[in-house]
Amino acid sequence: MGKHTGFMEYPRKAVPYRDAKERIGDFEEIFTPASEEHLRIQGARCMDCGVPFCQSANGCPIDNLIPEWNDLVYNGRWREALDRLHRTNNFPEFTGRACPAPCEGACVLGITDPPVTIKNIENAIIERGWAEGWVKPSRPKERTGKRVAIIGSGPAGLAAADQLNKAGHSVTVYERADRIGGLLMYGIPNMKLDKRVVDRRVDLLRESGIEFVTNADVGRNVDPKEIASKFDAVLLATGATRPRDLPIPGRELAGIHFAMEFLTANTKRLLDGRAERDFIDAKDKNVLVIGGGDTGADCIGTALRHGCRSVINLELLDAPPPTRAPDNPWPLWPKILRTDYAHEEAIAKFGADPRNYAIVSKRFIDDGSGRVRAVETQRIEWRTNGGRPQMKEIEGTLQEFDADLVLLAMGFVGPESYVAEALGVELDERTNYRAAHGDFRTSVPGVFAAGDCRRGQSLVVWAINEGRGAARAIDLYLRGTTRLPAPGISLGV
Ligand SMILES: Cc1cc2nc3c(=O)[nH]c(=O)nc-3n(C[C@H](O)[C@H](O)[C@H](O)COP(=O)(O)OP(=O)(O)OC[C@H]3O[C@@H](n4cnc5c(N)ncnc54)[C@H](O)[C@@H]3O)c2cc1C
Ligand code: SF4
Repeated sequence: MGKHTGFMEYPRKAVPYRDAKERIGDFEEIFTPASEEHLRIQGARCMDCGVPFCQSANGCPIDNLIPEWNDLVYNGRWREALDRLHRTNNFPEFTGRACPAPCEGACVLGITDPPVTIKNIENAIIERGWAEGWVKPSRPKERTGKRVAIIGSGPAGLAAADQLNKAGHSVTVYERADRIGGLLMYGIPNMKLDKRVVDRRVDLLRESGIEFVTNADVGRNVDPKEIASKFDAVLLATGATRPRDLPIPGRELAGIHFAMEFLTANTKRLLDGRAERDFIDAKDKNVLVIGGGDTGADCIGTALRHGCRSVINLELLDAPPPTRAPDNPWPLWPKILRTDYAHEEAIAKFGADPRNYAIVSKRFIDDGSGRVRAVETQRIEWRTNGGRPQMKEIEGTLQEFDADLVLLAMGFVGPESYVAEALGVELDERTNYRAAHGDFRTSVPGVFAAGDCRRGQSLVVWAINEGRGAARAIDLYLRGTTRLPAPGISLGV
């Protein structure tokens, strides 16, 4: 523990984002750099608790050794802090930017005071590591002669590839997109995760000996059976890519898109330096985003950067409370109202919070030429009936919102099924690939599954947890023994 009285002396100060009005003028990252002194002081707030809930149970899903690196940062021992961080996390630069930080929700200091700024410190450690040249490729000394194919290059596939390569197996990652990274590349937008940060890590993995094949859509232009026969094990890490639809009257109108169509084409335009035909421009449009969560917020942030005329966000559920409800005590993930970066930006630009809670969309309204002009909505209230929440529409609350661009951000309903069908992999009742957390084995011998395609839509940190876990399971399958660590099964978000 760095400073015994740090938690009493210093208040929490998160590293601020750039000014909201300024940052919507570009797609650069929203973060600002932090001074070493600032991070030392924030690290000094860590109490080094006997039972560090932040790194286990409801806290960090990959069991990051948080109190250890807080202490090392306080004492200026950055290199050792980096080594500790890489023990549990293959990609701290992704979680340090994009993780919602369940660790902070479980921080013991959070019982009485604002928690330690764990995520800021994590990001600072890894960025210091890159800046100092401490992050190096890790080529195994010996190869086992075993070959593993990984289908999908999101954080689950990449974490598994890194671990299996370190264990000496020869790994090939197949990705159907033109760039590696999954939702790190074509999901989470640039302002939250610069794509140079993703490429930097992928280049390192390549230098470490992992092979990447892009534009390889397994099940369409690459035969899954051939992969299964050529490799000793296969990991499915294809993500949860089927978006939830909203089949209400008028859904066929032009101007209504799934969030990922909007976000993917936007990132591709930024990276390629030109707009393809599928680019969706929000400039001067009245944008309506249906659905909250990260995807909804990222649509708002992107529309603002295009220069939209207005932006509204509709959410079916009630607004969460400002502080923890009695049935949501520490150390559970705090289900409280959070104003994300994009909401803050919308408030700065238009002077009002774009979010409307407890509201249901009834129909999309035509402008007379086959394009959407507005959305008709109705207010609702939630009641519990026999312990189950039930929605009731409130009479007399029909309302129209102008909208000439509607973005559907209502989540995802599982992986696409064509790879599973070709390999004969069973699905579970939620249409995810059936495999248990821990052994990650599907119904087909030698075929494993990890990440959002197995657990349903989730978080980057959970994808890393699953990729690491699946790598261990595959190593065990191939060699009968393993030295790869098992990530925890925490109870977090
Ligand atoms: C817009 C958006 C914003 C998000 N923001 C955050 C955030 O801020 N913080 C956070 O923690 N989480 C966030 N998430 C969730 C997070 O990105 C995912 O949970 C995580 O990326 C899942 O990782 P994965 O490796 O399982 O799958 P993915 O990242 O989805 O990667 C799967 C990859 O498999 C490829 N693939 C699929 N089928 C095939 C095939 N047949 N052949 C070859 N390749 C295939 C896909 O092209 C894709 O690249 C966000 C999600 C979205 C959609
Ligand atoms: S990965 Fe997420 S939960 Fe774990 S320490 Fe980092 S911010 Fe916290």
